[in-house]
Amino acid sequence: MTEMLVLIDHSDAGPKKVSLQMLSKARELAGITGDAVAAVWFGPGAADAAATLGAHGADKCYHWDSPDAMGYVTLPQVEVLEELIDEAEADTLLFASSNLVKDVAARLAIRMDAGVITDVSGIDLADDGRWEATKEVFGGDVITKSTIAEGKLSFIGVASNAFPAEPTDAGPAELVALDHTLSEEAMAAKVTEVEKVVAADRPDIGEAAVVVVGGRGLGSEDGFGLMEQLADLMGAGVGASRAATDAGWYPHRYQIGQTGRTISPTLYLGSGISGAIQHRAGMQTSQNIVAINKDAEAPIFQIADFGVVGDLYKVVPKLVEELESRD
Ligand SMILES: Cc1cc2nc3c(=O)[nH]c(=O)nc-3n(C[C@H](O)[C@H](O)[C@H](O)COP(=O)(O)OP(=O)(O)OC[C@H]3O[C@@H](n4cnc5c(N)ncnc54)[C@H](O)[C@@H]3O)c2cc1C
Repeated sequence: MTEMLVLIDHSDAGPKKVSLQMLSKARELAGITGDAVAAVWFGPGAADAAATLGAHGADKCYHWDSPDAMGYVTLPQVEVLEELIDEAEADTLLFASSNLVKDVAARLAIRMDAGVITDVSGIDLADDGRWEATKEVFGGDVITKSTIAEGKLSFIGVASNAFPAEPTDAGPAELVALDHTLSEEAMAAKVTEVEKVVAADRPDIGEAAVVVVGGRGLGSEDGFGLMEQLADLMGAGVGASRAATDAGWYPHRYQIGQTGRTISPTLYLGSGISGAIQHRAGMQTSQNIVAINKDAEAPIFQIADFGVVGDLYKVVPKLVEELESRD
């Protein structure tokens, strides 16, 4: 029996939602192939998460909690994963499609001559026994299905919210500590300071089930007050188009799109956003897209599941009023 590895993305609060979604998917896929599912955890905290990881599908959790795990940039994870994949004879690695982890996967793929597919929203077993990954490209205009060349390792980057996280009553994942001495090369770029950005008391846009997004149509920074009001009533995160962040109306870290964050919420609610291809590149995998725009010809309506043609300053306050009345 080989192992399907799932690289766990986590914070101080535990595994991120995307990690539990990947584990649930891995459990489903491993059920078809007869493989085991093993989580891979870098840094401290694996023991506290063993029950959650097990419930979501991990039979095992390999963890490397050396201070070096997070003390250097990218390469420690690459080295440890390379060794682990060899030893476990794993042929599939699932990872979250965040920028940092994509960097790890790309470097690892070069070393191991593996194939990489990122931002995947579906994984199936093709007739020839290889994984077939589904992803949306060109702003969602095209859906591709890809497989990795036969005989190569498959590294598959999963988009947030592509799969449901489904806990079962399975017991905790068995913890297996990894031991590794870093090469000189891996210690070339040291992390000298980590400063936490004081995040708003809202869910992270990469993880949130609902994301309220504002664009240039808001007209000014004040418009984001309305977006935040709406978001807080929905338990949502707040994002912005590049036009809005470039104008200084909202911080750049909330920008969604080709040069910003990629989000994949259950519900994307955009106001005053035209739907430029570069914006769509970061939100096209959202499960439900709702757009409010006063221009009926705005391209965002081509991909919206539900659209309101109207002035956002008339529509959004009504929505806020309705949500407030529901208590
Ligand atoms: C290399 C490159 C990378 C880029 N990366 C990104 C990226 O990562 N993310 C990104 O978002 N963009 C990116 N862009 C910019 C992108 O091309 C667009 O310029 C940008 O997305 C437009 O933002 P917007 O929709 O907010 O503004 P606009 O395109 O100006 O659209 C504003 C919309 O608001 C509507 N509107 C105006 N007033 C109201 C009102 N009162 N009520 C309702 N609707 C109203 C208008 O009808 C219009 O459709 C990139 C561009 C380049 C060249």
